[in-house]
This record gives sequence, structure tokens and C-alpha cells, in this order.
Amino acid sequence: MSRIAYVNGAYLPIAYATVHIEDRGNQFSDGAYEGITVYDGKIIDLVPHLARLRRSLSELRISAPMGDAALTQVIKEVVRRNRTNSAMIYMQVSRGAAKRDHAFPENIKPSLIITCRRLDFAAINARVKSGVKASSQPDTRWSRCDIKSISLLPNILAKQAAREKGSFEAILVDSDGLVTEGSSTNVWIVTPEGTLVTRSTDDNILPGITRSAIIRLARDMQMPIEERAFTVKEAKGATEMFLTSSSCCAQPIIAFDDAPIGNGKPGPTVKRLVEQYRIFMDAQ
Ligand code: PMP
Repeated sequence: MSRIAYVNGAYLPIAYATVHIEDRGNQFSDGAYEGITVYDGKIIDLVPHLARLRRSLSELRISAPMGDAALTQVIKEVVRRNRTNSAMIYMQVSRGAAKRDHAFPENIKPSLIITCRRLDFAAINARVKSGVKASSQPDTRWSRCDIKSISLLPNILAKQAAREKGSFEAILVDSDGLVTEGSSTNVWIVTPEGTLVTRSTDDNILPGITRSAIIRLARDMQMPIEERAFTVKEAKGATEMFLTSSSCCAQPIIAFDDAPIGNGKPGPTVKRLVEQYRIFMDAQ
């Protein structure tokens, strides 16, 4: 069965699902997106994902293509038509199609596309069990990383550079030597004193939906948490290091720039958080 995508009002087989050649998403990366997990038929954290999309669009002065209730219906219909209960939903809103001109065209209608791709939870679970390597890369992005913009070139180049070093993720480092986030993840450490640390969201990183869920779960478990920046050196001396994102849940890092983290195996804190996150997903 071919995959079905939603494009501006129509549900189409993916091969026929196309946007206008002058769509500003295509020509200027003029848009915002969300990636949402479907786990066991449940759409995880849909409400905060919709809220973050609305905020990104408002910061970019792109009008929302429809209200949240209608958008929820469309998302559910895309999932239903793809007959899957483990998937990643990709939802993108661009400013729309118009004659190419940098300034906003008048009376432009936003363009909405939604795709749904099967997510391999077995592979994710295997990575959570084994842990992955990560490499530092300079953070060359713009100064509005709080917006989930579709303009991802620096993230792509950093991820590719990390992959070419045999790493799963690029850990982005600012000009002060402080870790910002991963190329598509938020980054966490556990200090030798046992405190969970992740960079604060008022510090120009993407406010990850999984990051918020993990903070809530850690607080429920009475884990000490600090939201602050940390250096590459502090990360290398951490007892644990891990990534969070909708697609990878909480992913242990066992080596950073080839230095082992802790004893070089996934640590107990991330394991407990993954367990609690699974319970949280089951309860949705
Ligand atoms: N930071 C960046 C740069 C990302 O692209 C993502 C995932 N889209 C995240 C963090 C994690 O966000 P979330 O938990 O909402 O998937």
C-alpha cells in the first residue's frame, strides 16, 4: 500500500503529493514544522506540539492554516490512512506560494503538508540499550533557534560531519565553548554529584517537547535538576550524558568526541527516565 500524504486539503498517494514550485518553503525555507511520534496508535504530546507550531508561525508572522481542532482531525486522518500505529508524523507549514520576492507577498495563503512514516521502535530500543557516540561541532545557526524553522542547513551539515566521524549525533557548541543542543535533539548530562543538567530554554535552543516531559518526570522522581549551560569539558567529566527528542525518546551517549562517558555504558538515570517515559507514552 502506498503511503498517503496530506497536501493543502487533499489526501494523496505520496508520489502525487506535490507543492507549487514557487512555494516559499521550497525557495526560502520560509516555514515551520513539527515532528510528532505515534506510539502504539497514540499521538504523543500532540497538544504541546500544536502549541509550539502555533508559536513558531506567530514568530514568523505566518498565518495558521487552520485551527487546532481541525488540524488534529487531519493528523488523525493521515495516520489512519497510512494504517500504522508506530510512526513519525511530519507536519510543515510554509508561508505559501507566490512570485519570488524576499518580502512577504500580500494575501498569501499558507501551505500545509503532512506525511507519516513508519518508525522502527525496535531499532530505537536497541540504540537506547547500547547507547551511541556523539561528536562536538561548532554551532553556526542563527539567533532564533527557539523557532522550529524548516531552515536546517547548519543542523544538516553538523549531523553529517558527526556521522562521518562515526557518531550518531552532533553536539553543537557555541563560541563560548558551551553546549547548546544536538543537531536534532536536546542534550543532558548527569554531574558526578548526581544532578541532571540541561540548557535553559530562554537561552536560544529549541524548547523540546520531550525535554519538557523528561523534566516533569525527573521532578516527579525527586531527581535534582538544573537548567543551565555546561561546557564540553563538564560534559566529558559527566557520569551520564543523553539526548532527548520525539523520535529517539531519551538516548544514552556512551562516548563524546571519543572520550567514554561514565563507565562507557548507558547509566542508571537515563534508564529510569526511559522507563518512566514509556509509562507516560502508554498512558496517553
Ligand atoms: N533540538 C532540535 C534542534 C531539534 O530539531 C529537535 C527535534 N526536532 C529537538 C531539539 C527535540 O525536540 P522534541 O523533543 O520536541 O522532538
